[in-house]
Amino acid sequence: MYIHTRIKSAFRHLAYAGLSQDADIEILRKVFLVNVFSTIGMIFLLGFGIDSIVDHRHKLATVLLSLAAVTLVNYLMMLRVGKHAMGAHAISIIMGALFFYLLCSGGVQQTGPLWCYAAAPFLLFIYGVRWGAVVVSLLIIIAAILLYVPNPIMVAHYPEILKSRFLASFLAVSIMSYIHEYARHRSYSSLMNLRHKVEQEARTDELTHLFNRRHMYEYLQQAEHRMHRLKVPMSVLLIDIDNFKRINDNYGHQFGDRVLVEIAQALRHSLRDYDSIARWGGEEFLVVLSDTENPAAKIVAEKLRTTIEQLPMQFGEKQIGVTISIGMHTAGISEKVESMLKQADHNLYAAKHNGRNMIIESQHGSGDKIGLITNLVTI
Ligand code: GH3
Ligand code: MG
Ligand code: MG
Repeated sequence: MYIHTRIKSAFRHLAYAGLSQDADIEILRKVFLVNVFSTIGMIFLLGFGIDSIVDHRHKLATVLLSLAAVTLVNYLMMLRVGKHAMGAHAISIIMGALFFYLLCSGGVQQTGPLWCYAAAPFLLFIYGVRWGAVVVSLLIIIAAILLYVPNPIMVAHYPEILKSRFLASFLAVSIMSYIHEYARHRSYSSLMNLRHKVEQEARTDELTHLFNRRHMYEYLQQAEHRMHRLKVPMSVLLIDIDNFKRINDNYGHQFGDRVLVEIAQALRHSLRDYDSIARWGGEEFLVVLSDTENPAAKIVAEKLRTTIEQLPMQFGEKQIGVTISIGMHTAGISEKVESMLKQADHNLYAAKHNGRNMIIESQHGSGDKIGLITNLVTI
């Protein structure tokens, strides 16, 4: 492996440590920030801690090295336990402690406040626009009180001009970090909305707004696994509009489309929320009734059939009657999706063959007529 590939892989390992790469993009970003910040923080704290020992600044050295140790422990904990949200709070507290220590002690020759600027972007990037702004505002208010109200904690003696310039410049950095985080958050939200829309469109049929065949197939696979695991039955209803070609031929394709939409809506509204329905093909629909076997499935199928039979379909002055045929199949507990669909299709074919506007269900592997031809509508 090339050296730069090794470095890249080591960096990725370090930056995303303790998290799977397929986690939410926003969580990945936070983990990246916390891990990278912890590492950089540890290096700086260690470096300046050692420097302070050499310079005989024992108090500063103790604080810096202790915080380096706490950061290291926090990082290792995040690696082991994977609780990055807690790690982020811990590193923020470490950062807050360092902020106030450096501000109040003055650090080396009153250069302490220079290191405080890192707090604003970090806290805003970690806590987001709302909570980040609250935390940073608190930091500024407390810093102003410590700088201007005489108190025993403030050991450093800053010139007046440095106090006001420090607060003003810290505020400026905070505002700029806020604007950056706000813009990033907005583009992330619109990206997420777009993704949601694309996902929604990918599983929806354009005309009827029901699920499309591809999504229903995925749903069926999941339903099959669930049925095998939990040993609960399920039924499928394959629905086909009767003599639909004649509707198109006699009244036009546009009216045909309207009929499809109205039937789709009527079927959806006649089902329970946890039943699933999709446009399976041109004028075919597939209904999946989870946790349902006979006679409940039969009752649902009959309800759908009568609903469509009674659906008023207006073409100008004329009332057009439309009916559906249903091939019904209640799956055996270990049955596969392909077999369920084959059985339902077989029963639908039988319903068409027997005169349409009826339901045929499987019984011991063969089609069994259960709906009588009530109201055969001629179009
Ligand atoms: P059967 O009772 O045997 O099902 O007869 P049918 O006429 O319904 O069946 P056939 O398969 O002969 O015709 C189905 C028709 O459905 C043909 C096709 O033009 C029409 N169709 C398929 N998709 C659409 C669509 O999106 N819009 C419209 N208007 N018609 C469609
Ligand atoms: Mg058909
Ligand atoms: Mg048809």
